[in-house]
Amino acid sequence: MNATFDLLVRGGTCVTPGGTVPADIGVRAGRIAAIGVLSGARAAEVVEARGLHVLPGAIDSHVHFREPGMEHLETIEAGSRGAVLGGLATVFDMANNIPAVDSVKMVDWKRGYVDGRIWCDMGFFVAATKGNVDSLAELELQPGVCGIKVMAGSSLVPEIMVEDDPTLERVMRSGFRRVAYHSEDEYRLRERRPMAGEAAPYALHMEVHDVEVAMRCTRRLIALARKTGRRAHIVHVTSAEELAFLAEHRDLATVEVLAVHLTLIAPDCYERLGGFAVTQPPVRDRRHYDALWAAVRSGLVDTVASDHAPHARETKLKPYPRSTAGLPGVQTMLPLMLDHVNAGRLSLERLVDLVAAGPARVYGLVGKGRIAEGYDADFTLVDLKARRTIRAADMASVCGWTPFDGMAVTGWPMMVIVRGRTVMREGQPIGRPIGRVARFGDTLRTAAAAAA
Ligand SMILES: [Zn+2]
Repeated sequence: MNATFDLLVRGGTCVTPGGTVPADIGVRAGRIAAIGVLSGARAAEVVEARGLHVLPGAIDSHVHFREPGMEHLETIEAGSRGAVLGGLATVFDMANNIPAVDSVKMVDWKRGYVDGRIWCDMGFFVAATKGNVDSLAELELQPGVCGIKVMAGSSLVPEIMVEDDPTLERVMRSGFRRVAYHSEDEYRLRERRPMAGEAAPYALHMEVHDVEVAMRCTRRLIALARKTGRRAHIVHVTSAEELAFLAEHRDLATVEVLAVHLTLIAPDCYERLGGFAVTQPPVRDRRHYDALWAAVRSGLVDTVASDHAPHARETKLKPYPRSTAGLPGVQTMLPLMLDHVNAGRLSLERLVDLVAAGPARVYGLVGKGRIAEGYDADFTLVDLKARRTIRAADMASVCGWTPFDGMAVTGWPMMVIVRGRTVMREGQPIGRPIGRVARFGDTLRTAAAAAA
């Protein structure tokens, strides 16, 4: 066969929907044109993938890149550079910015602003607020929008919190796409925050944000989702109790788990890392850690994400509860998960389901998430045998630290290709930021109408 391609990814072991197989991949015009034995093919560019596994471009469906308004913590450029250095081809950015992305004007702003600044492709969340419920049906259909995000409790930006059932029900009746929820019960949190007083051990965080805080909110959200028939994605699920409950509601609910909750265990993490282990919902004890892994293996978990949420070192060093909650992770998510693959905690195929096919399925992402003809030529090339040490000094994030500093891992992303263009090779960003706004099935008509 003498086909000609723009790019040939040659000799890798490809994780495809049909199995993990040795194959070449031919790319034309940014899309996958052929998969198989392409030994006679010519190409303008050839990537040698021998000894590497070729995964669909990995997706982190939960990051906070902090722009606009908190550029001292993270920027869209640095955050997306960290994403590609960490092996990712697409990220979905959260909306709790200052100002929040809660209007057509702000969605338009972000779509324009990222152009020329992002190293990978990107989707955006829109924040539900008490003030924009009537616009949500229109907002969720804007080009580039992956969905509506609801902070049902525990918000750092109170303006975007929707904690009460009547408003939550109105949100659910306002459109039709799957809604993503941060599920912590604000009323129970208000009762429990005084427990910490002026200063307390960091481990008290998991008592203030106890399992009942999460469970109570998840029960309320699923009851309302049942009443309205609106599908829900519960992000960063942390407890055995919620997992058991959500398993009974699979017709409505999908489940996100964070790499950090699959890696750190309490109380060890609080003793070792202090405030640098504090996130919301919290890292819990071994019983919950084991339940999360059981749910990864059973298929209950749909997506794994980082919830990359940079904070300043100084605010993490403050005593609890004055320290800030949230951890950076976009650059370490895939290395951590590859290390878990090497440790036998999940298969490489299950990992691809969680960080590629899963996010694409849950959010209706178009043309990504699998290695298949016609799909975007997004690839993450990994060396499953590579031993590396995670170093804070290597992090692109403006915040400049990682809770995983010094951790040795086996398995490392060596290269990222986005729509046929190499954007990262061996720890270096390549070229310039060529990322684009991702496409979502439900918004294609809006995009078409705007173009007409
Ligand atoms: Zn988050």
